Amino acid sequence: MEELRNTFSHLVVIDFEATCDQGDNPKVTRETQEIIEFPWVVIDLAQGAVVDQRQIYVKPEWSSGLTDFCVQLTGITWEQLQNAPSLLEALAEFDAYIHENFSQKGKTFCILTDGEWDLKVCLLQEAKKKCIELAPYFFHYFDLKNEFLQTRGGHPAWHTGHKPSLRQMIDALGLQFTGRSHCGLDDCANIANVVMRLLAEGHCFESPEEIPQDYDPSLDPTYRDFNKSPSLFYRLPEGSQQETNVVVLRGKLFISSPSSNNNTNNTNLYLLCRTALDNHGGADRRVLWGTV
Ligand code: AMP
Ligand code: MG
Ligand code: MG
Repeated sequence: MEELRNTFSHLVVIDFEATCDQGDNPKVTRETQEIIEFPWVVIDLAQGAVVDQRQIYVKPEWSSGLTDFCVQLTGITWEQLQNAPSLLEALAEFDAYIHENFSQKGKTFCILTDGEWDLKVCLLQEAKKKCIELAPYFFHYFDLKNEFLQTRGGHPAWHTGHKPSLRQMIDALGLQFTGRSHCGLDDCANIANVVMRLLAEGHCFESPEEIPQDYDPSLDPTYRDFNKSPSLFYRLPEGSQQETNVVVLRGKLFISSPSSNNNTNNTNLYLLCRTALDNHGGADRRVLWGTV
């Protein structure tokens, strides 16, 4: 049998945070969203270990402040961005890092993100609007969700076509979420923990996703617009310190039975519940009460 091999010597995990808002009349929409945190964590695939990390805050140009929702979600304040570089400058800093640590040393790397939003939607649309030419390494990437599904695809929980959230992958692997959810650098570290567990299980990162050079995110129906999301679930201020009042969660009802793999019931599930954040260090939301 042919031995499986990782195609690159390193993975560079990126998880952008961007300006955002919620509600019916949002100050930030998908058309005006801008990157405010550009963090990365480097994994040496041979060692199966994190070998470096960086974090750049980025000053947005289309907003003159951050919404309360954005501050609450990301933990980033406007003061932190006052003297921060622009996206163009942050990209140049990243490129210099890549040149020094990979190109000059004859090492190879590929970017890895949790889902397709970071590169295909967020970075591409902002760069396009700001007439920034992106380096070729931004046009192929590993999607952690797809890699995870390659290893767990046979499990009934993932038969729904549903892509797992970072939390779900962490839970499924028996790991603990560390740090603050929606802090880009902490998200990168948690993504890296999932990657390292998959590596330890023998998974190889072989075939990255390709983004066509002429890809236009605004024409992609899979483009996730939080403001227009039909599911209130995505509009919850996850990570906020406040208790949420009554919310309606909508999702797919999934019935698991050991005797059958084909047991998905596609009925919508409405859950009326009251939730609060777990204040013990994490941003886990717990349901105080719920009714279906
Ligand atoms: P994440 O990597 O999950 O921390 O999300 C990246 C970015 O997506 C955030 O910085 C926000 O701009 C946006 N985002 C994430 N969750 C939400 C949400 N519930 N509502 C609105 N925007 C969100
Ligand atoms: Mg993310
Ligand atoms: Mg994040």
